[in-house]
This record gives sequence, structure tokens and C-alpha cells, in this order.
Amino acid sequence: MHELGICDALLKMVDQVAKEEQLACVRAVTVEVGTLSGVVPKYLVDCWTAVSDGTPYADTTFSVEVVEGTAKCFDCGQEFAAGINDKLVCPFCGGNKLIPVSGRDLTLKEILAD
Ligand SMILES: [Zn+2]
Repeated sequence: MHELGICDALLKMVDQVAKEEQLACVRAVTVEVGTLSGVVPKYLVDCWTAVSDGTPYADTTFSVEVVEGTAKCFDCGQEFAAGINDKLVCPFCGGNKLIPVSGRDLTLKEILAD
């Protein structure tokens, strides 16, 4: 469950930004999660609920936007969209030596405040 640690870190980041920007009330937080990051969006939402409970962010709307990752085939050099649930083989040559190109990140995209 590394989602719990991620949410803990996210909450600290949001808190820091809110203090620096002197935001009175954070209404919504949006994070972007790549399909190759290994993070499960549903768990992330559950964990946010758990870590924000009892904090000023308990009522903050937390949304996750999924960004499709891409991988590159080592054998034929093609790039293609790759999700975590795909059986990771190259759709062009069937090779399984794949290099993740994008979609491994989790980013704090937006903080909406009053
Ligand atoms: Zn290939």
C-alpha cells in the first residue's frame, strides 16, 4: 500500500502550499497519475480520505486524472500506449523488452482554493 505514503506526502505538499499562499480554504486537489506509475487511482482516493480525516482538508474534493503512459519497444523501436493492466508486449513485433517512456509520474496538478 504505497498509496498511503503518497497521500501522506501529497497532504503535506498541499498544506505547505496553502500556508505559503495563505489560502483560507482548499476546495479541490487534482493529481495526475500515469498508467505506468504503479499507483491505483481508486486506492489513492481511499487513502486521501484516510489521511485527510481530522485535518482541514477532510472536505477537500480529491480527484485523480489518469494519463496514459507510453512505452518503447527495444526490438523494433516503436512507441505505443501502455497501461498497467496491459500484458506488456509490443503490439508491433510481440517483443517484451519494453522501456517506459512516459506515464511513470504522479504529479500534483492543481489546487483550487477560495
Ligand atoms: Zn516491437
